[in-house]
Amino acid sequence: MVFEQAPQAGGSLATLKRKNRWVLGFPDQTSQTIAAHYLDHIHREQITLLQPAEILSCRQPSQSFTLEFEHENKRLTVSIDSLVIATGIRPKGAESLSKIPGITELGDCSRLAFHPLSHLDQQASLANQTTVVIGGGDNACYTAQDLILAGARVHLITRSSLKAGAIIRKRIQKHINNNDITLHQPATIQYLQPRDQNILIQLDNGTEIIADWIFPRLGYTPNDAILNTLKLQVERDDSGYIRVNEHQQTSMAKIYAIGDIASPRHQSIVNALAQGAAAAAAISNHHE
Ligand SMILES: Cc1cc2nc3c(=O)[nH]c(=O)nc-3n(C[C@H](O)[C@H](O)[C@H](O)COP(=O)(O)OP(=O)(O)OC[C@H]3O[C@@H](n4cnc5c(N)ncnc54)[C@H](O)[C@@H]3O)c2cc1C
Repeated sequence: MVFEQAPQAGGSLATLKRKNRWVLGFPDQTSQTIAAHYLDHIHREQITLLQPAEILSCRQPSQSFTLEFEHENKRLTVSIDSLVIATGIRPKGAESLSKIPGITELGDCSRLAFHPLSHLDQQASLANQTTVVIGGGDNACYTAQDLILAGARVHLITRSSLKAGAIIRKRIQKHINNNDITLHQPATIQYLQPRDQNILIQLDNGTEIIADWIFPRLGYTPNDAILNTLKLQVERDDSGYIRVNEHQQTSMAKIYAIGDIASPRHQSIVNALAQGAAAAAAISNHHE
């Protein structure tokens, strides 16, 4: 059985509209189309997919677990032998900037957008706008590059050094050398001040930026709420990713973890699929 809390299954793929260049065998199809292929396969295999479903608790009275969940306004229980956690990761949001004065006043302001692709929704209206990217990793650099292509003025604020991969870092360095991107490094934001049409950003080095758009790209954090809900004390690394062995087994018997939540490195679709296959093989061998 698969439990999905969102109204629509498909995970992160279902939210990405870009054409695929990375999963072999699906050229030119969008992530959403690939998600639809995977869902079709799940249905053909007659795997029960419950969505939206909320898992409420888990008890282990004997050899099997009893999982309590809510689906279609009903509270139900099911007895299961193994549990595979595949809840993924999410971009770090406003909570990561909560100490900056002014951030709460910005509230749900659409000019402050955290998702790594949020700037693409604004692409058409970014020409000649002053944009600020916060961060120094891959997502920050790719966002800065997209903004340049959209004709925006770009400020990149990073508190240490650029940590993106070599290829994108080199491209960004070229833009910095050409003065297309203003790099503020090392710099931190002292405060933000929402104004009528824009946002004032005060940096600790005295620089003041009047920004039309702010795109923080602060990295990711594991979607770990399920661990608290089910009171599962599986071993995790310092960043909260679940530790697994070569069979995707966690430190708790019969509990497995796959995909991004168990992969601080190599977060990708093929990795998640391969880990799912490894967990399925381990579970099936265990029961034979
Ligand atoms: C902007 C962006 C670009 C990317 N580009 C690429 C790329 O080019 N190539 C590539 O291979 N990969 C790419 N990825 C990564 C790829 O999308 C992920 O590696 C992959 O989706 C991981 O699958 P997953 O199942 O671990 O997690 P996800 O796809 O995130 O799925 C997790 C699911 O768990 C659900 N969930 C969470 N908590 C609960 C709960 N308590 N109960 C029930 N359900 C729950 C969520 O709703 C979600 O549907 C990209 C990701 C992003 C965000």
